[in-house]
Amino acid sequence: MNISGQLTVDDLPRVCPLLCRQTNPGYGGDQTRVVEVGGVRFGNGSPVVIAGPCAVESHEQTLAVARAVKHAGADMLRGGAYKPRTSPHDFQGMGVEGLCILRIAREETGLPIVTEVMDTRLVEQVAQYADMLQIGSRNMQNYPLLAEVGRAGKPVLLKRGMAASLGEWLGAAEYIAKQGNLNIVLCERGIKAFAAGEYSRYVLDLNVIPAVLANTFLPVIVDPSHATGVASMVEPASRAALEFGSHGLLIEVADFATGRPRCDADQAIDGKTLARIVKFAHHRHEQLLFARQAA
Ligand code: PEP
Ligand code: MN
Repeated sequence: MNISGQLTVDDLPRVCPLLCRQTNPGYGGDQTRVVEVGGVRFGNGSPVVIAGPCAVESHEQTLAVARAVKHAGADMLRGGAYKPRTSPHDFQGMGVEGLCILRIAREETGLPIVTEVMDTRLVEQVAQYADMLQIGSRNMQNYPLLAEVGRAGKPVLLKRGMAASLGEWLGAAEYIAKQGNLNIVLCERGIKAFAAGEYSRYVLDLNVIPAVLANTFLPVIVDPSHATGVASMVEPASRAALEFGSHGLLIEVADFATGRPRCDADQAIDGKTLARIVKFAHHRHEQLLFARQAA
């Protein structure tokens, strides 16, 4: 039985003709589009590690984390100035003040910035500060927002909705592409499944990575921090994501010396652990290159 409205991968040429492999034979069936963000290249083989605090909480905290991220050898800095929180009574982010702090962190470290935008009215503002615009899981199907970021002229990091199928995720990416912006990086961040909440925050869907690679030419990265919600799981989840073909990682880091983070403290890793993950990512990439040359 074929239930109307239920997508399968056979529907992708109709749902996302601008992005799916079948309708874009120029990508040769296995090539990835390289998306460049301030000199950092997603999809060209070498994994990109983005790291930083969940939220920008202060100048001191953000700069301390940014220095740790740089020291660990990561490629880009993350940090939310506008935070999507479950309760409206929780810390909502520092807003434009947070964006200014991110700009200072970029000036000091040279790391390009990715930060979330949640509101169509703020796309222009956030785009003035960010090198890459992040669409969060909760907004993956906010179609006016997707169109607006598509028009903003900046690369976009599109997180997977926590209950979104592959077809819905790629359909969301198509909204951005339809505005003429194909500089999109997909990010798997864990899905709601029966085990979610029991021993981890979400369920990391590693299987979706090869499925993404088979069906679109866009690069895809993994967020092991939100996917697990548990700091001790972030490093093994990062390694697994790279084994499954992820083009990079998005990781939450804290500098516990400046205080416990106000958001997502349980999943934050320290700079030392991040450095190990970066080292593994480079080492694994070199191994794969070597194996390919030898074959
Ligand atoms: C984030 O990365 O800051 C975030 C809020 O994640 P998600 O949208 O995946 O929940
Ligand atoms: Mn977070």
